[in-house]
Amino acid sequence: MNFENKINHNSNIVAVIGHPIKHSFSPLMHNISFDILQLDYLYLSFDVPSESLKDALKGMIALGIKGFNVTIPHKEKIVDFLNDVSEEASVIGAVNTVVNENGILHGYNTDVAGIVETLLPFKDELAGSEVTIIGAGGAARAALYSLIRHFKIEKINIVNRTEEKAERLKEYFSAKMLYNGIKAYDLTPPDLIDVFNRSKLIINTTSIGMSPEEDDSPTTIPGSFNKDQIIFDVVYNPLETKFLQLAKSQGAVTLNGLRMFVEQGAKAFELWTGHEMPKDKIYKTLQSYLGA
Ligand code: NAP
Repeated sequence: MNFENKINHNSNIVAVIGHPIKHSFSPLMHNISFDILQLDYLYLSFDVPSESLKDALKGMIALGIKGFNVTIPHKEKIVDFLNDVSEEASVIGAVNTVVNENGILHGYNTDVAGIVETLLPFKDELAGSEVTIIGAGGAARAALYSLIRHFKIEKINIVNRTEEKAERLKEYFSAKMLYNGIKAYDLTPPDLIDVFNRSKLIINTTSIGMSPEEDDSPTTIPGSFNKDQIIFDVVYNPLETKFLQLAKSQGAVTLNGLRMFVEQGAKAFELWTGHEMPKDKIYKTLQSYLGA
């Protein structure tokens, strides 16, 4: 790393805010990219509890922070404090990237780009299919938007531990995107094996199976999967979750969350710097880092 570059008092600062924040790989991804492209930027992480969000935003503006990522638990609440949000972020109701343009805060949701780029190679296979999303949080909202807007999906099942949240998401997206193919389910009942099994695509948008809880999986029943399926886990640490291992053992195509992570980061990087992130290099670097 070029440290001289990092003590320039005029460096452009970008950041991530969340609570907790220490598990984020975003500082690594962005700082390596700045270094490769020799850009005078530095990416920091700030642990911001919910009650300090508004003050933190004032601080960002006062300090001239160029932009920042937003993660749990602020993705939804922050929408109220921004000057404007993109169409995607407005429909989804969550922002993961903010650009500070001289004190005017613009919000975006780049998770959509991450999901779309990951699934694009399967666009034809997915047309007219039934799919299942596990989870009903921010990542599930981005997945719902992406599938409805960018893929010709016939039916979408939302499966969540708290069924009312899945129901609320169904009502919201049915009305907001004029799409009437959504059904909501509770994550536990045994008849979910059929729901899973008949889905061409299953996306886990929960943190189940994420390090250090690597033995957990949204389903542990091998009969949930078959060889004609695409199984996508947004978790990327570990690269192969138990959910993906099980799906792979039944012959399904498996996709981990690393491509999504790099693509969402690349979109944010471009919004802040106007430069293209060296995505392939970053993907390989993170892959070997996480695989080690
Ligand atoms: P969120 O808004 O807090 O939603 C979390 C969801 O997971 C909720 O539906 C929650 O169910 C469910 N959940 C959590 N723990 C569970 C458990 N032990 N058993 C069953 N369900 C559980 O979080 P999010 O922003 O959507 O993020 C979810 C995951 O996606 C995180 O691991 C995050 O790191 C990952 N992510 C990855 C990328 C990427 O680029 N690869 C991008 C965004 C997010 P309830 O409703 O019942 O609480």
